[in-house]
Amino acid sequence: MGKVYAHRDLKICSKDCLCLFVCPTGATNNETGQIDKDKCIGCGACAMACPAHAITLISKKMPPAQPKTEEVIVSLDKVIRNKIWEIWQIHSLLEKSENEAEKKLLKALYHSHKVVLEDLMREKGYMLPESKNTHEFLQTLLTDEFADPKIVQKLLELLEVNE
Ligand code: SF4
Ligand code: SF4
Repeated sequence: MGKVYAHRDLKICSKDCLCLFVCPTGATNNETGQIDKDKCIGCGACAMACPAHAITLISKKMPPAQPKTEEVIVSLDKVIRNKIWEIWQIHSLLEKSENEAEKKLLKALYHSHKVVLEDLMREKGYMLPESKNTHEFLQTLLTDEFADPKIVQKLLELLEVNE
């Protein structure tokens, strides 16, 4: 078994089935659109054959996040909280706005703030599914009224902590 597995992005897949023909293990299924992770040996033949660049090879085991000092973590927390607050503010202004030019500007601001927030969250380690942060966050969702505990439990079982 390889260290990577293939993932197909259905949004850009043009369903021409080339990946199906080149796969040596029959891991690609064009009826369901899924690639069977257990059958995939990570050879990459499908990704090379795909004319739409819809297949990505994903590492089975992600490396741990780079260690950070306490000072950096505390600062990141502060900036993340501020960014979330700003996004809320922009969103509420957007909901109230009736001016098209203003709405356009607010939408652009909203999206650019979200991109920065994603970067900050990535730095903090939340975008790594196997990080300790993600695991701790999922633990908090087990008792969250808006989350399905069965799905959260399943994710906790699947995502091995790598640090
Ligand atoms: S990486 Fe290889 S084994 Fe995996 S789905 Fe693609 S062609 Fe098949
Ligand atoms: S080769 Fe690429 S575009 Fe064609 S079916 Fe496979 S994933 Fe989709």
